[in-house]
Amino acid sequence: MIYDLIVQSNEYKEFQNDAKHGRLAHAFLVLGVDALVQEMYIKALSTVLICKDFGCGKCKECRAILENKHLAVRTYDNLVGAGGVKAAADLIDDVFMTSFDYPNRVYIIRQGENLSAAVQNKLLKTYEEPPQDAVIFLLASSDANILSTIKSRATKLYLPMFSTKDVLDVLISRGVEKDLAEVASTLSGGRFDVAFNLAEDEELYQQYLDVFDALLNLKSSSDIVGMLSHDAFFKGSQYGKNTEYILKSLDFIEIIFKDVLILKTNSNIEYMTIKKEKELKILAEKYSITALAMAIESIGFAREQLNFNVTPISVVEKLLFAILENAYIYKE
Ligand SMILES: [Zn+2]
Repeated sequence: MIYDLIVQSNEYKEFQNDAKHGRLAHAFLVLGVDALVQEMYIKALSTVLICKDFGCGKCKECRAILENKHLAVRTYDNLVGAGGVKAAADLIDDVFMTSFDYPNRVYIIRQGENLSAAVQNKLLKTYEEPPQDAVIFLLASSDANILSTIKSRATKLYLPMFSTKDVLDVLISRGVEKDLAEVASTLSGGRFDVAFNLAEDEELYQQYLDVFDALLNLKSSSDIVGMLSHDAFFKGSQYGKNTEYILKSLDFIEIIFKDVLILKTNSNIEYMTIKKEKELKILAEKYSITALAMAIESIGFAREQLNFNVTPISVVEKLLFAILENAYIYKE
């Protein structure tokens, strides 16, 4: 199903179109963070390079690629860390010594963001001038650690982006229970890898409801004390994992406030939360646009404090106080 979304994406169609017109480069730097999309996107691009119909998705070659079984598609995970230079040398040998009857051979190098400069230098010449039938994909979450010499020779590709709705549909089609799928996709920000991780957290949906409850009941500073034992922030079963738990609550608060902003500004952006219009409207009456923007900023500050080991209780207390204070100062 992620595959179906990918082959409908503009990124994929553009690549396919370039392949049909013989305009493709041979060295690509593929950037993006979603591990599941990355894996499927590269498979889809490989089918374009090897299938005689440029990625029909159904023929023997396409199926073998999608099942990770195709001889002419080789993935390298071992260029990171000790032994990386040796592994790069093996890859280069393979690039120059192998030949098949396919239009292309595909080399996939993972974790580009973690490759040492020595490994990148070793790859440089091959990356620059691979044999006519070899295509190299260097995959990386970002290009911050990629040498400029590599970057200047690479054609950059970006992973297609998806909506939380796309993520929701895929989760449900994979049998994730509906409530949990809704909240996992809401929190995922459109990332499939994040969503699938979250979907394994059975308590997540309850936490999401608890955070809504806390925000709806936060009316004056006298409510703050009660919030310090509210399940939205401090739940008995989460003892010892408080920071991690609260970070998720902060994500929820941010998503909720952003949705309230969307509501108040009548913008066309889709809500991240699903079927919570009633609650969003109640919150929209409590907070002005400025107060919401300030609240979102204070969430960022709260995250930083948690990461600097400020005690969770004091972080939550300060955050809630800041939210209320801004609501008061920036009344409509
Ligand atoms: Zn095919």
